[in-house]
Amino acid sequence: MGKITGFMEIDRADRGYRPVEERLKHYREFVEPLPEKDVKTQAARCMDCGIPYCHNGCPVNNQIPDWNDLVYQGQWDSAARNLHSTNNFPEVTGRVCPAPCEASCTLNIEDIPVTIKTIEYSIAERAFADNGNQWAPLPAERKTGKSVAVIGSGPAGLAAAQQLARVGHDVHVYEKNAHPGGLLRYGIPDFKLEKTVIERRVKQMEAEGVTFHCGVHVGKKVTVASLKKTYDAVLLTGGSEQPFDFFAKSPGRDLDGIHFAMDFLPQQNRRVSGEAIDKSTHQISAKDKHVIVIGGGDTGSDCIGTSFRQGAKSVTQLEIMPRPPEKENKDLSWPHWPLKLRVSSSQAEGASVEYSISTTGFSGEGGKISKLHYTRVDGKMQPVPGSEGTLDADLVLLAMGFSGPIENDVVKELDLPVVARGRFKGLEANERDYRVRGRDKIFVAGDMRRGQSLVVWAIREGRQAAASIDRYLMGRTDLPR
Ligand SMILES: Cc1cc2nc3c(=O)[nH]c(=O)nc-3n(C[C@H](O)[C@H](O)[C@H](O)COP(=O)(O)OP(=O)(O)OC[C@H]3O[C@@H](n4cnc5c(N)ncnc54)[C@H](O)[C@@H]3O)c2cc1C
Ligand code: SF4
Repeated sequence: MGKITGFMEIDRADRGYRPVEERLKHYREFVEPLPEKDVKTQAARCMDCGIPYCHNGCPVNNQIPDWNDLVYQGQWDSAARNLHSTNNFPEVTGRVCPAPCEASCTLNIEDIPVTIKTIEYSIAERAFADNGNQWAPLPAERKTGKSVAVIGSGPAGLAAAQQLARVGHDVHVYEKNAHPGGLLRYGIPDFKLEKTVIERRVKQMEAEGVTFHCGVHVGKKVTVASLKKTYDAVLLTGGSEQPFDFFAKSPGRDLDGIHFAMDFLPQQNRRVSGEAIDKSTHQISAKDKHVIVIGGGDTGSDCIGTSFRQGAKSVTQLEIMPRPPEKENKDLSWPHWPLKLRVSSSQAEGASVEYSISTTGFSGEGGKISKLHYTRVDGKMQPVPGSEGTLDADLVLLAMGFSGPIENDVVKELDLPVVARGRFKGLEANERDYRVRGRDKIFVAGDMRRGQSLVVWAIREGRQAAASIDRYLMGRTDLPR
């Protein structure tokens, strides 16, 4: 373990942010790395608990106490090997994971969990720097002669492709967008995840034998049927891209200035990386506008941060749920992910956040939105009579999540069953083999299977699906689940 008495002697310390007024001037990352000596000290706080709850809290089951100890001992190389044995992209989760591991850390009973995410980030970035600013490729020693097509290059598709290539399969990734990365590239803004972070991994994967076919929309430009003929297995990792539209029938919904978050965010990511925006795209800008973001979560926060950087006059976020408590009841919640008030870095840039409020419609002049109409709601989310009002709104961004996979391409061609996953929908396949029943050679993983989720869950599903495909192709597998 780290230092036996470390948790009693050392205070928790974490990465900080650049000041708001400075970071709003650009789209670059603004989290300040912790100096290496402080990372080692923080790792020393790990108690190496008899039952390490953080293992289960982390969806890829990172061996957290092991690498905490290695970092404390200064064995960065071994720490990086250990970390990569469970997580293909720790430099990504070290940036954008909400860190359920920290919620389940024993020290979180006292609200002072080990800074696991920061240590993970530091191990990954140090390994990258120590390798001459590149990820050393780990190509397979032997080729199997088998081939796999992966449709979709988000974290699920990338993790699966890397695992499959490393055991010797010929892997081809098909992506409808111009560049690989899925929501890492087109959803999450650069100020949370700069795109060079994805590009350097893609480079490593290419050196390991993965071939990327970008700008190919499967189910439209090429059929799944043709891929099935060419490849020995096909993995679907197309994500959950169908947005919820709770206001489809609300008055004023057709006014100009009301957009889905994912019509807004990818445009800015493309501008930042200099990618051409399709001429037919209706360009959306928050500059000099009163912006209303409807919906919480990461997507809502990303809309806030992007709007501020574009020069919005004001940003207000509306949440129908009541304001969560500032502190959770540990007796009821630990070691699980608690419901509690979390202020995102984007909200902290100056957004006004309203809880228990429901949008009833929109109005405007000349076809353009200028007001959002609302009512306050009670604990049962019922309107409170007399609480109605309006807010100035020049741009409304709908960030209420995604109902399930797009159903007019691959799903339509294969006539795949889409089933309920809680509030969301996903394709029918289990977490043991990720196979789509009754469809020879077809597997599915990530948001497309489990419904909208997190990057770390997508990585887990990609890794597990890869193990299942390897077993299907070879009769056995050495890939970890
Ligand atoms: C704005 C936003 C911010 C988020 N922020 C966070 C965060 O901070 N932390 C976190 O953990 N999670 C976050 N998430 C969630 C996370 O990004 C997703 O859970 C994760 O990316 C899902 O991975 P995936 O590989 O299953 O799918 P995706 O990342 O959605 O990738 C699917 C890919 O498949 C491609 N594709 C789809 N259909 C086809 C087709 N027919 N042919 C070819 N290609 C196709 C798509 O273009 C896309 O590239 C965020 C989500 C959004 C929308
Ligand atoms: S991937 Fe997420 S849950 Fe797992 S150790 Fe990293 S920050 Fe924690």
